[in-house]
Amino acid sequence: MLFGAKSDIGKVREHNEDSFGCKDNLFVVADGMGGHRAGEVASSIAVETILAGDISRIDEAGLERLILDANHAILAEAEQNPDLNGMGTTVAVLVLFPEKAIVAHVGDSRIYRYTVEGELIRLTDDHSLVAELVKRGELTETEAKDHPQRNMLTRALGTKGTIEVETMTLPVRPGDKFLLCSDGLTGMVDEDTIRQVLAGNDAPTVLAEQLVTLAVERGGIDNVTVVIVEH
Ligand code: CA
Repeated sequence: MLFGAKSDIGKVREHNEDSFGCKDNLFVVADGMGGHRAGEVASSIAVETILAGDISRIDEAGLERLILDANHAILAEAEQNPDLNGMGTTVAVLVLFPEKAIVAHVGDSRIYRYTVEGELIRLTDDHSLVAELVKRGELTETEAKDHPQRNMLTRALGTKGTIEVETMTLPVRPGDKFLLCSDGLTGMVDEDTIRQVLAGNDAPTVLAEQLVTLAVERGGIDNVTVVIVEH
């Protein structure tokens, strides 16, 4: 298993509120929100809490519990420190085994699988207002891209005591590549371009750098974080 990661503040934001991490076969990306540095705090608490968990025999339920622990840790920190009130974060987690992967997410950070046949499959549905409207047929994908409320999430860690985590288990094959990313990538770079980059033979670190560079060159209006894992 090879992996590479890259995070960039972008061209507009004053702080990088994204966080990412990896432990053994677990990979996580979190995109924080909140005033001042609160977003950074929320996303790093999420990553640290999840990485601190026992993942040796993890399953979907165990991964969900870790994410709920992260939610409680963020709420507890916000309660202690009024400056951090209202902070929240997305989270996207991949746990990769020889023959299967478990994915879990809350919010609009995404996980993709790129197969050896060159197919790019999105494994996560955004928990966002525009994604809900697209699902209901009230908005097209193109309209969603420029929608003024495209950043509005319907689910995020740190917003309330009970949150719904979406999890799934899928079969994987040798040669598959997985991409975890914040919306700073997908807001700037279309899926066809992402697919073309992932088709490259370079190491995951190089591919991650290429994707982040594209997102920044195309506007960089948000923080951008990319984790690539090659199975
Ligand atoms: Ca973002």
